Parts: sequence; structure tokens; C-alpha cells
Amino acid sequence: MGDNVFARTLARALELEGSAQSLASLLRVPEGTLLRWCDGRADMPVRAFTTLVGYVSAKEARDPASDSQSEGHAPAASHEALEFNIGTLVARCEHCGHTQFRRSRADLPLKMTSRLLCRACGTAVVHGDLLVALGNQLIAKKRVEALERNRRQAAMRAARRVKRRDEVT
Ligand SMILES: [Zn+2]
Repeated sequence: MGDNVFARTLARALELEGSAQSLASLLRVPEGTLLRWCDGRADMPVRAFTTLVGYVSAKEARDPASDSQSEGHAPAASHEALEFNIGTLVARCEHCGHTQFRRSRADLPLKMTSRLLCRACGTAVVHGDLLVALGNQLIAKKRVEALERNRRQAAMRAARRVKRRDEVT
């Protein structure tokens, strides 16, 4: 699975839930399946990924040390350039299409509930929402690829039929 948002989200959910067994039952999959996702022997479905994003967000929202807590002086945004990918698919700012983000609060760690800012236009997005949007993009991409594959196969079958007809006549 490599270093991408699938692997990182799964690792974070495991850490929060404490055991692979209870996380597997939460996702309604056999524990062996979850372990295959963990060590990269199988690809986690996007649906399981978005469930995990929601799970981690809900857990973190209950954490007292979250973003919204400290008011008062405005803390600075970080200077990092974060990117979020699943394979070759990269999360983009919905406003300008840029792929680099930074935390709106440099003093807090990156959480699923963190507010991120687009490095180009400054549009804010919640980390978890950005990841779910990325998951949905992956579903759309797979659907298009499957359609194209079917179209190619249909074209090949048609070509073979024409060829056979030519051989008969
Ligand atoms: Zn932007």
C-alpha cells in the first residue's frame, strides 16, 4: 500500500481503536482482511477508507485538545507543503486545483479534524473532508477506467467478428 493516505488513515484508526480485531468488526470485515490491508497484501476498498476517515474524525472531535479549543491570540499557519495522494491521484483545492496545503495552526499536530489552507489561494478545507473527496475521485476514476476497458473489449470482439466473416466469404 505504501506511504499514502490509505495506509496512514488505517494506521491512525488502529492506534485509536487499539486492536485490529475490534477495528475489523467495526468495518464488518474479517480480521485477516484488515491485516492484509495493513501490510499491503490487498487494497482497501474506498468505502472502508471513507468509513475510517469518519471514525478517526469522530474520535478526534471528542479529544479535548482539538483545534477549536484555544481562542485568544491568532496562532500562525504552518509553512509546510502537505500533499495527499492515493497512488498517482492527488487531492486538489476545490477552488483553484492546487495540490499543496498547510495546517491553519502551526502549533497543533495534523489531525483528521484539522483545518488546512490551500497554499496557492488560501481556501480552507477540513483534512477529513479533503480525504473523502479524494476517495470519491478514485471511485470515479475507476469507473471511467472500467468503462474504457469494456469499450475496448467490445471493439476487439467486433473486429474479430468482422475478420471471421471475411474469412468465410
Ligand atoms: Zn486553492
